[in-house]
Amino acid sequence: MQILDGKLVSAAIKAELAEQVAQLKAEGKKTPHLAAILVGNNGASETYVASKVKSCAEIGFNSTLLRFDEHISEKHLLDHITSLNENADIDGILVQLPLPKHINEELVINNIDPSKDVDGFHPMNVGKMVSGLPTFIPATPYGIMLMLEHYNIETKGKHAVVIGRSHIVGTPMSILLSRNSNPGNCTVTLTHSQTKNLKELCLQADIIVAAIGKPGFVTADMVKEGAVIIDVGINRIADETKKSGFRLVGDVKFDEVAPKSSYITPVPGGVGLMTIAALLKNTYHAAIGQKGGMN
Ligand code: NDP
Repeated sequence: MQILDGKLVSAAIKAELAEQVAQLKAEGKKTPHLAAILVGNNGASETYVASKVKSCAEIGFNSTLLRFDEHISEKHLLDHITSLNENADIDGILVQLPLPKHINEELVINNIDPSKDVDGFHPMNVGKMVSGLPTFIPATPYGIMLMLEHYNIETKGKHAVVIGRSHIVGTPMSILLSRNSNPGNCTVTLTHSQTKNLKELCLQADIIVAAIGKPGFVTADMVKEGAVIIDVGINRIADETKKSGFRLVGDVKFDEVAPKSSYITPVPGGVGLMTIAALLKNTYHAAIGQKGGMN
């Protein structure tokens, strides 16, 4: 069993980006600039945005964090997005989800200029991804592909079972793994809450991507000996021994699944860090006017 080390791989990607940014600066070119929008005080969202902004600084990107009260009107938020769209210094825009209930997320995403949509959620970019055209790939599945690539994990002809069909993780993951590319060329089964024989399907899987949002959902009895396990879940569970009062666990019961797996991502220290690295790559590509690092 080998741990897929998100810390190590994301550090390598960040170091490469830092060099590329230094090169841009040396040539008198524009410094990549990411604008992040955070609405309200959701603890997890605050942590995610803070690490994205911090990572920008580490590699020499500029970043701007726009924080709004949870009661901001939809119109006001859309106006801010318009001004970021029009601001030539901003290369990438990300809106941290979820948004408060009174704001229509779809409308907000649709208003981001697709050429600055570094999260890859705009329908135009989703359409391009599905068609295999160069575009921004959503950061979490993109980060997972970069992880598989880094460890040179054989995916061709393998059966991948993706658990969860969200627009941000499960669905794009299933598309990328089924592409005629390397990594890729998997036979993919995309599963969700209405899937009847999930355990049987998982037992056939060479690769399992768990993106459910339920702590410890994938147990050892669901996993074939030697499977590759990618745990996307980030779940907070109460832990009085921690200062914060919680700890993070994945969607996979790590302790019992790890011994059966050939490769496995830990939580924390796995996919979460790769997501940030992939977002930074997308932002770099936006800044140099080239979309997508995988196409
Ligand atoms: P969503 O809640 O949007 O989607 C969860 C999916 O899991 C749904 O498709 C749902 O099915 C499916 N599901 C729920 N229960 C079951 C079940 N019993 N059996 C099979 N499928 C089930 O979550 P996200 O995709 O946004 O996130 C998933 C997890 O990944 C969360 O823990 C989240 O925090 C984490 N995450 C981590 C990131 C990272 O950087 N590491 C980035 C983004 C998310 P249905 O569609 O039928 O409801």
